[in-house]
Amino acid sequence: MMDKDMMIRIAGVRKDSSDDGPGLRTVIFFQGCHMHCPGCQNKETQDPNGGVVWTVGELVKKVKEENYTHKVTISGGEPLEQLPGLRCLIRQLENEGFDVGIYTGWNLNQVPLDLFPYLSFIKVGNFQKDLKNPSLHFVGSENQSLYRISHEDGNNVLTSVNLF
Ligand code: SF4
Repeated sequence: MMDKDMMIRIAGVRKDSSDDGPGLRTVIFFQGCHMHCPGCQNKETQDPNGGVVWTVGELVKKVKEENYTHKVTISGGEPLEQLPGLRCLIRQLENEGFDVGIYTGWNLNQVPLDLFPYLSFIKVGNFQKDLKNPSLHFVGSENQSLYRISHEDGNNVLTSVNLF
């Protein structure tokens, strides 16, 4: 199957968000998350059978029509629970010149390394109610981290971003 024909179950697309990574970004919310964190603010995105199914080609087309900053964040739900579709989507977006970031509830050591070449940042860690801190930028709780990813001589270099 070609990248553009891969299917992804999504909860929705939001444009012009300033809360989901640096800059004004289009956010693609994947549908389905098995973590069930107490206090989750996107509870409606947890059901793996909810949302709607789009092809990667349709998603990329929509983002291209609506986004003028060339910045996209993949969030959820849990994007890493749909790895085959996620791989195709970030490959296609990067190919089209988009700056792509991912918000995942998984920890950094659980993220497949082959995703990094296509990303400019990644936010890792699930939401933990007891560690909630509304003054943090871009994340909800203090256990979560955001890394900038640069690509130097074929290596992915991760730099931790100060969120306070
Ligand atoms: S990882 Fe995120 S989407 Fe999933 S249950 Fe936790 S807060 Fe909600």
